[in-house]
Amino acid sequence: MKVEDKKVVKFHYVLKDEQQEELESTIGGEPVAYLHGFKNMLAGVEKGMEGRVAGEQFSITLSPEEGYGERVEGSVQRVPMKHLQGAKKWKPGMIAEVDTEQGRRQVTIVKVGKFMVTVDSNHPYAGRTLSFDVDVLDVRDATAEELAHGHAHGVGGHQH
Ligand code: ZN
Repeated sequence: MKVEDKKVVKFHYVLKDEQQEELESTIGGEPVAYLHGFKNMLAGVEKGMEGRVAGEQFSITLSPEEGYGERVEGSVQRVPMKHLQGAKKWKPGMIAEVDTEQGRRQVTIVKVGKFMVTVDSNHPYAGRTLSFDVDVLDVRDATAEELAHGHAHGVGGHQH
């Protein structure tokens, strides 16, 4: 069965940056399951999955534009530590959530002071060329319930 709209695809992946440094991996953990054609994945990933079958292994490379966008300058700012949601103790490189006028945003901690923290509101992967090494485990028809919800259920998908 081929990957196309209304199929649920289950796969393992290793995400690397342009220096081949590993950023994320599902190997040894739970695979990811998603409903194809419902914008649950980055468009470039869905395009790379199109027509694939279980057992195929391949790599999908995304330019920054196809991934999380270019880095926006001027996105580094100082915010009061008490505005950060998440951990109790902050270190550079950690991801925090901040409530802004545009809603809740993810930021990366750059520098920690006594009361103020310097954060960068670019996505951590912004400006990077990403490559996904994909191992397709399973392709199946979506259930009527999954189509109604617009996402995959079960292992690797929504469990509710
Ligand atoms: Zn659901």
